[in-house]
Amino acid sequence: MNKRTDVTCVKGKSGSEFSEQLGWYHDYYGRPFGDGFYFLGGKIMAKATVQRPRGTQDVTPSESHKWQTIEKVCRETAEQFGFKEIRTPTFEDTGLFVRSVGDTTDVVQKEMYTVSAKGDSEFTLKPEGTAGVVRAMLENGILNDGVPQKLFYITPCFRHEKPQAGRLREFHQFGCEMVGPSSPAADADIIALAKSVIDRLGIKDVTLHLNSIGCPKCREKYHQALKEYFSSRKDELCHTCQERLYKNPMRILDCKSPICSDIAKNAPVILDYLCENCNSHFNKLQEILKAMGIEFVIDSKIVRGLDYYTKTVFEFITDSIGAQGTVLGGGRYDGLVEALGGQPTPALGFGSGIERLLLTMENSNCEFIEKNTCDLYIASMGNNAQNKAASLALALRDEGFFTEYDLMSRGLKAQMKYANKINAKFTLVLGDNELETKQAKLKQMDTGEEIDISLDEKFCDKFSDELTNYMFKDVLSDTEL
Ligand SMILES: [Zn+2]
Ligand SMILES: [Zn+2]
Repeated sequence: MNKRTDVTCVKGKSGSEFSEQLGWYHDYYGRPFGDGFYFLGGKIMAKATVQRPRGTQDVTPSESHKWQTIEKVCRETAEQFGFKEIRTPTFEDTGLFVRSVGDTTDVVQKEMYTVSAKGDSEFTLKPEGTAGVVRAMLENGILNDGVPQKLFYITPCFRHEKPQAGRLREFHQFGCEMVGPSSPAADADIIALAKSVIDRLGIKDVTLHLNSIGCPKCREKYHQALKEYFSSRKDELCHTCQERLYKNPMRILDCKSPICSDIAKNAPVILDYLCENCNSHFNKLQEILKAMGIEFVIDSKIVRGLDYYTKTVFEFITDSIGAQGTVLGGGRYDGLVEALGGQPTPALGFGSGIERLLLTMENSNCEFIEKNTCDLYIASMGNNAQNKAASLALALRDEGFFTEYDLMSRGLKAQMKYANKINAKFTLVLGDNELETKQAKLKQMDTGEEIDISLDEKFCDKFSDELTNYMFKDVLSDTEL
């Protein structure tokens, strides 16, 4: 609801003036603001009649360059490591996630968005990226082209969790999947890729935590040990975990209930139960990482919350975002391809939440790519000049220049003010006189310096020269000295 009473009347810098009359606010023209408006930071904001759902987020133009920075680094780095992009549907058959993520996981038991449209079967909005990618690889015969197959994706994911800082119901994930190699060299390569992405984003103070959760063979004994351990305190476990105790005791280790996680603190660790094969894989991986100069710590608490992981699991953890410290996590999932109907094929990968990366980057003052600003704003006076501005702008845009002109039928002064506001590098003023003489003044906004420029077929070339001089003026003056 609007609380008009606690709003201070402001004489806005924007030129609008508000006054209170009979409890209503009126704008400059005397029009009252109704219930659809509220004040924020001295500005009038229109209230949308419908709000975005809880746990979702808008990326506004003032933030989108940050996303572009992350996406660019992710794409470029993945491509340099030989990964190609794959795009899969936002919703999949529910069975895909039950079979891959696992029916005793928090994700499947508590967090999936399952939807059905009239007369249609049931679908689930993807809670993570890997299962859909493996499904698509099998369905499109991508593995028939030989191995390794290396794919990356950037995709929205959906989980019905309690919304809190850094945890959204719709979030975005950058992920990489490698299918085919069983050697620890592949584990090291995928970890190196993950580390490169984090380094190139400028995120510091990140530690690689490494663990092995073994294969089904070594897990038999481990499950037994876990069952024995948790049985003694069975009654204290949450309802879900009491069931997990028999079906999949490892999942108790990543239960979010504080009581369960407290009990889990002293549980047996899988590293003590690894079979010979898993043990030598883990040792070899550590040896390669050392050779690559990638530092890590062994952390038996890293178990990852999804059933499909085997052997290597890892997380990159930072303390700059508090309790939600994992910026990227992944591991090996040797059983997944077979579980989804393919030939037994080893595989591994990682995923990273873009929102989480962004938060970490902001907290550690990382740099983002600069927003593109307007190269030339063409101001015009009169009908003919406006037509000329439109055609010139089109020609300039075709040549790759960021060009704007007046679409608001504003006066010249207001047009120049707008050019300033959008940080245009140059402006050009067109009036009847300029059209007649085919000469105009090109003004550099930084310095106020003006040069004459002909409005002929060479205009774009000449503007390009001026823009280049401007962009490289620092470099040029350095070399002259
Ligand atoms: Zn094993
Ligand atoms: Zn629990």
